[in-house]
Amino acid sequence: MLELEQAVEKILGAIPSANSERVPLSEAHKRVATEPIIAAIDLPPFDNSSVDGYAVRASDVAQASSQSPVVLKLAGKVAAGENFSGELSAGQSIRIFTGSPLPVGADAVVMQEDTRVDGASEVCFLDSVKPWENVRFRGEDVKSGRTVVRQGEILGAAQLGLLAATGSMHVSAGRRPTVALIATGSELLEPVSEAKPAPGQIFESNRIALAPLITSAGGIPKVFPIVPDEPKATRDALARALSECDLVVTCGGVSVGEMDFVKSAFEELGGQLEFWKVAIKPGRPFVFGRKGDKLVFGLPGNPVSAFVTFLLLVRPAILRWQGASRTGLPVSVGVLTEPLSNQGDRRHFVRVMVDVKGEVRSSGTQASHVLSSLAMAQGLVDLPPATVLAAGTKVEVLRWE
Ligand code: AMP
Ligand code: MG
Repeated sequence: MLELEQAVEKILGAIPSANSERVPLSEAHKRVATEPIIAAIDLPPFDNSSVDGYAVRASDVAQASSQSPVVLKLAGKVAAGENFSGELSAGQSIRIFTGSPLPVGADAVVMQEDTRVDGASEVCFLDSVKPWENVRFRGEDVKSGRTVVRQGEILGAAQLGLLAATGSMHVSAGRRPTVALIATGSELLEPVSEAKPAPGQIFESNRIALAPLITSAGGIPKVFPIVPDEPKATRDALARALSECDLVVTCGGVSVGEMDFVKSAFEELGGQLEFWKVAIKPGRPFVFGRKGDKLVFGLPGNPVSAFVTFLLLVRPAILRWQGASRTGLPVSVGVLTEPLSNQGDRRHFVRVMVDVKGEVRSSGTQASHVLSSLAMAQGLVDLPPATVLAAGTKVEVLRWE
């Protein structure tokens, strides 16, 4: 049985290198940069004022105070978006606003609050400024030519802002994979209005839970109809998924029962099983196979097992397929308010609640069919086999939202 890290490594090793496409910035949120992105311009692009006030030569107002104000001539005005064509000479000041270019000849800006306007042509300065006070320098934030986003980085809202400000209007982003989502099981009923489970039937719930996880990893989910536990139906669905999609995720039908057809159907289609079973709980049965460039992930059917194996084993694949360098779940740190215990011989990914103070506790019964404790949870704690963590222990919580 593989350890989780070995399984992830095998999966990531099978991912083909990302295909890039040119994407406008407005559509690039959460996309993966497939090349380093270089600042095309300096940021700020020119020296400018950080306040509303008056551009001066600092030496002209060096003696100014509220007791002995200094009066300078008002020689003009430079609004945001304008460029002052003249030059500021000694004894002069120029009205300036936040973001306006600093006029040539000026070396500081006095805040409006430290001035008084004396008529239309003079300004009274009530305080001194140091040279370059209230000036934002060209390139002080980013120098033209600097790498602002590294290859493999996922573009968040803040990165998009930086790219726009530094003149990158398009990015080279990894193509998003289409991901087939197939639920197998003759007991499953399509959860549509009016549907009433007959005895022995249950509502199918994995596709609706996994589809948004696919989307938030950057994949494009293609939800397939429920597949009954029959060899031919399983084969047909897999064949269609393999021909239509880049990645295939199935759930159910990968255990040892005689009604579990996913592995055999995949092999009959010429697919190669890479491994089966990972030493984690929930989710031991987990199939990974490939057929050419197409990858198949056979998740266990139990809802929590499907959810957790998706997060730990499929999500990294979807991200790497787009070229992402970091594929692990985001982590937050918290402190246990009660002990967490794993009596078993497999690593247990325990569903936990995390409150605003970072206090962490189990979200309830941990059996792999129990959805209510998954719904109560905000994350998972990776608990090694035969381990008890005492209350007060600092833990990392793997998050999915
Ligand atoms: P399996 O992995 O097919 O043996 O299924 C394990 C358990 O998960 C059984 O109790 C199934 O009824 C249940 N199950 C399988 N697939 C789903 C699904 N898509 N939605 C909800 N429950 C499921
Ligand atoms: Mg089944």
